[in-house]
Amino acid sequence: MNIHGITQFDTANGLGIGTVLWVSGCEHHCLNCHNPQTWDRKSGRYFDHTGKDLDFLLKTLEPDYISRLTISGGDPLHTFNRWTVGFVLNAVKQVHPEVKTWLYTGYEWEQAKDIIKPFAYALDYLVDGRFIESLKDLNLPYRGSSNQHIIDVKTGNIVDFSK
Ligand code: SF4
Repeated sequence: MNIHGITQFDTANGLGIGTVLWVSGCEHHCLNCHNPQTWDRKSGRYFDHTGKDLDFLLKTLEPDYISRLTISGGDPLHTFNRWTVGFVLNAVKQVHPEVKTWLYTGYEWEQAKDIIKPFAYALDYLVDGRFIESLKDLNLPYRGSSNQHIIDVKTGNIVDFSK
């Protein structure tokens, strides 16, 4: 799997302060996507998921005030990303079980819930759906358009963090 980077101390892509892993590869091609440079799965650089990159990612989650890891992109559920994303989520929960894990995907929940089955135990929140320009709403926390939902993976229920 390739990535475009790792952002530390993020407050925009999930609740609390967290780290974001930006993966390469997305076939949804939404109009006015915030990250079109990530569409090509061969863009960016290789993520060493068994070595120094995973070690670094896990280290960023050590401080007490870091409560989240978010995987975004690109689409973490792109066919070529699923296995490595599952591996990373598993590693995070093994080392930092208290850290909440978030994943952004262009797939809608009905499809995404089947894709994530092998690693759903290690995922807390999934933000689903393509970005739709005509439904864009800057007031929505942690998502760009109103068709997208934040879903509690364990229950399948939609969560509203604006309340
Ligand atoms: S799913 Fe996300 S990364 Fe992919 S095209 Fe849409 S907005 Fe961009």
